[in-house]
Amino acid sequence: MRPKILGVIVFVATFTSVALAQEPPLKSITYRLSMSRPVSHLFEVSILIELPDELKDKPLQVQMAKWSPGRYGVFDFAKNVQEVSATTGLCPPQTRCGDVSVRPVTRVDDQTWSVEPMRSTALTVSYKVFANDLDGTFSQLDTRHANYNGGSIYMYVVGHKPDPVKLEIVAPTGWKIVNGRTEHPGQTIWNFPNWDILIDTPTEIGPDWTLDTFEVDGKKYHVMVHSFGAEGGKRAGLVKDIEKIVRAEVAMWGPPEFEEYTFLIHFAADDRSGDGMEHLTSTQIIQPGALGEPGVYDSTLDTVAHEFFHVWNVKRLRPLGLGPWDFTRPANTRGLWVAEGFTNYYGHLMTRRAGLWDDKKFLDREATTITRVEYAPGNRLMSAEESSLSAPFIDGVEHVQAMNLQNTAISYYPKGELIGMVLDLLVRGGSKGKASLDDVMRDMYEEFYVKSPNSSYYLRGRGYQTEDLERIVERRSGHDFSDFFKRHVRSVELLPYDEAFGHVGLRLVKTQSKEPYDAGLGINFEDRQAIVSVVISNSPAEDAELQAKDQIVSLAGKNVGEDWRKTLARFKPGDSVPVTIKRDRRTINTNLVLRQPERFDYKIEERPDATAEQKALRAAWLSGK
Ligand SMILES: [Zn+2]
Repeated sequence: MRPKILGVIVFVATFTSVALAQEPPLKSITYRLSMSRPVSHLFEVSILIELPDELKDKPLQVQMAKWSPGRYGVFDFAKNVQEVSATTGLCPPQTRCGDVSVRPVTRVDDQTWSVEPMRSTALTVSYKVFANDLDGTFSQLDTRHANYNGGSIYMYVVGHKPDPVKLEIVAPTGWKIVNGRTEHPGQTIWNFPNWDILIDTPTEIGPDWTLDTFEVDGKKYHVMVHSFGAEGGKRAGLVKDIEKIVRAEVAMWGPPEFEEYTFLIHFAADDRSGDGMEHLTSTQIIQPGALGEPGVYDSTLDTVAHEFFHVWNVKRLRPLGLGPWDFTRPANTRGLWVAEGFTNYYGHLMTRRAGLWDDKKFLDREATTITRVEYAPGNRLMSAEESSLSAPFIDGVEHVQAMNLQNTAISYYPKGELIGMVLDLLVRGGSKGKASLDDVMRDMYEEFYVKSPNSSYYLRGRGYQTEDLERIVERRSGHDFSDFFKRHVRSVELLPYDEAFGHVGLRLVKTQSKEPYDAGLGINFEDRQAIVSVVISNSPAEDAELQAKDQIVSLAGKNVGEDWRKTLARFKPGDSVPVTIKRDRRTINTNLVLRQPERFDYKIEERPDATAEQKALRAAWLSGK
């Protein structure tokens, strides 16, 4: 029970409806961002607000979002906010603008501050935000650069998210600013139709990034690269390959809505794990390692193919529940298996259509996803729609409380990827090649983004529901898909792989996993101690009564090192391996009885009896022609 949060929701809902019904828009909202001391990791933000006369006696609330679009975990950005203050006048700290007086600021709850205008129609609310994560959701300011994602930096004025906003950035000397809405070099001021678009425009500010540009069908694409390690002369090739991906995806969807688009790419060397985040006219890609290092180039293109597909799928064509948002509570949507899962599928397919992969590489990649999904215990417990609704728990969230998600959850990324691929092949097969999931996606884009009347101030069109996708799949294929959606989208039944691959003369081959045994155990090393991290349900580890957080002292009579799997691999299924653990300050001896792994590896191969017609369907699928 969380009655306090419930209280906030009720309050905000009431306030918003009052605000929309009666409260006029603010006369102006200007965000001013400065960074006078990069080494401190503190962004300095001022919000300059001009109030209409009717609002000068009402408290004004500003709020830090709890999460931001594209990543559905709740992070409470307010935790990094400090020194909130307010004065009269449009006057950020450090600027000289005559007489100003202080206005009282009260913290209302975990994310909200209230300011008393006291009859003043011009107010400046100022605060600092600590930011030291290079990431698709958080932000970073240090001596190398500033890179921000607006949701973690900019408060909104409660009730006024739809109002137009202006942004002014004051960068350190010699640092240049770039984002997906840069119109000319040296630009420091932007206007946005509303706060949502402000935070949809991640921005890089630094002394030494590079910018390459290419054109596809009259639209301009910029590739900003900021490298913390050696590029090994690979940047020009990378830009050329990004252009191939753009061409393949534009060939499927048709011309994108924007005139210019910017890839913001960091080669982050040793800085945390990778990330990619989609935006309306840009993407943030954080790639660990250096461009010159093995594997980094290909991994970057993988992310590019995924994020650029989001230009259509999720940023514009979006499931119901994805915008406009209430940032006081997590997002709830059933459609992330389409928004992210189909994007995973098409990211791979487009890399093949762009000519960067051959057929085998694409089919091997999908087979790897099948192996991963079919082995995950949560795949038989959590449907694609439920996985989407669980996003706030499973999307990049670290857990303090003990949980069982490793046994019960499945990510909508790989699960949706497989549903997308199977659906595509069933539509292609069922319509004898007359239709495909490409057609379905284009129809969805037309109907829900281009042609629907706007359902809110946020973007064009309206959100779709699973039933809408089902209807369009049926219309395009000429077949009833209600059973498919019931079994494989709203429930957890095995996908009809054989039927789907059969249409294109392929088959799925299942072989016993090469893993020599199954233990159902995960071990983490903390302070050189081996600590049980995962116990899979109904596994040998659970039979041995092992528990998460047990300290393993010895395994098969030996000390436990990072190579513990090799120790177990010397035994066969059926063997009993002695394990000594410490729990509750006691030493406990038990036996781990290994099993034959019920784990399979999948491969997608050509059927020996594939017909010419099936091969033609396959060629059309893989080439997009
Ligand atoms: Zn994505």
